[in-house]
Amino acid sequence: MTLKSRLPGTETSIFTRMSRLASEHGAINLSQGFPDFPIDPLLADLVHKAMLDGSNQYAPMAGLLPLREQIARVVEETYGRKTNPDLEITITAGGTEALFMAIAAVVHAGDEVIIFDPSFDTYAPAVLLNGGKPIHLNMSPPDFSIPWDALQQAINSRTRLIIVNTPHNPCGTVLSSSDLDRLASWCVEHGIYLLSDEVYERIIFDGQQHQSALSRPELQPWAMAVFSFGKTFHVTGWKSGYVVAAPELTAEMRKVHQNIVFCTNTPVQVAFTEYMKNPEHYSTLGPFYQIKRNFFLDQLKHTPLKPLSCSGSYFQLVSYGHLTQADDLDLAVKLTREAGIATIPVSNFYADHADHKLLRLCFAKKEETLAAAGKKLSQLDWSEF
Ligand code: GLN
Repeated sequence: MTLKSRLPGTETSIFTRMSRLASEHGAINLSQGFPDFPIDPLLADLVHKAMLDGSNQYAPMAGLLPLREQIARVVEETYGRKTNPDLEITITAGGTEALFMAIAAVVHAGDEVIIFDPSFDTYAPAVLLNGGKPIHLNMSPPDFSIPWDALQQAINSRTRLIIVNTPHNPCGTVLSSSDLDRLASWCVEHGIYLLSDEVYERIIFDGQQHQSALSRPELQPWAMAVFSFGKTFHVTGWKSGYVVAAPELTAEMRKVHQNIVFCTNTPVQVAFTEYMKNPEHYSTLGPFYQIKRNFFLDQLKHTPLKPLSCSGSYFQLVSYGHLTQADDLDLAVKLTREAGIATIPVSNFYADHADHKLLRLCFAKKEETLAAAGKKLSQLDWSEF
């Protein structure tokens, strides 16, 4: 008997594939999104200390309460939303588990879920695993704005959830205040939940303000907002994040969490509790990455690639359609193998594989890495690609 797949269309993620290819070919890896610089030694010390102090057994299912209290404080200070840490905040195994929990909490068989493409690769599979139907609406370069007309046409009585991501991976765009107001009014009017993927909340540039779903009181019964310690504290491999939502939604999400991982690792939670007490550890992230973005844009000036506008996240899109008509996946593979530079093809973020001749480059890297990448890209002979 052959095993019938529940996700027949899912292959190993492009992030894993490109990182593997980069390491096989010794390429500079600007593909998968993760920092290549060291973390704050204080944070590492805090985890070590927590382990030595005996914080090595199960944490409570929803996470350590003192950590949830710190999060509640920061959420209130940042977004003006007062939350009950006991009933509205859950510590998760990274943003990815939180996304799955949120989808599983509200999506029933046959429910439709609106996903704006390009979209992160776990949204649609999580909807499918929960018996839902992903409805993909495309956003297009260069501004990747929400397709409001298509959204209006897509909404019907089966629409259960809309998923948004700001700052956006891979586009580097951010939702405006009026975008969020408009989405909020749709959700409230039609009784639709909103899953707001805000893992890059603090990586936002040029004086723009992050528009959190938590900042809109009218969304309180509808919104689930997902955050990532990995992005904010440069520790993607610790797989730690959290989700904030009203008590009724949180209770349902925790039923999922309890049955997947039960709880997440304890010493890291102890360390974050202490580390979050100093606001400098999170409030400086925007300027920190803005310097990297600007440095990287300077490197790209020596190449014929055309950067798109990047207002947030640690990803820079570049367009290459004026240089070659190569398919973006083929180009990304060839650049890794032959030019020693790994990137992510943007068509992978579209269900219909729309190829806008765009590559995504991660600039969460040391300046020397970004300079070396810029040099390689400036020396390419595009007639070979
Ligand atoms: N979020 C990261 C990216 O977009 C990678 C996540 C992953 O590898 N699953 O590159």
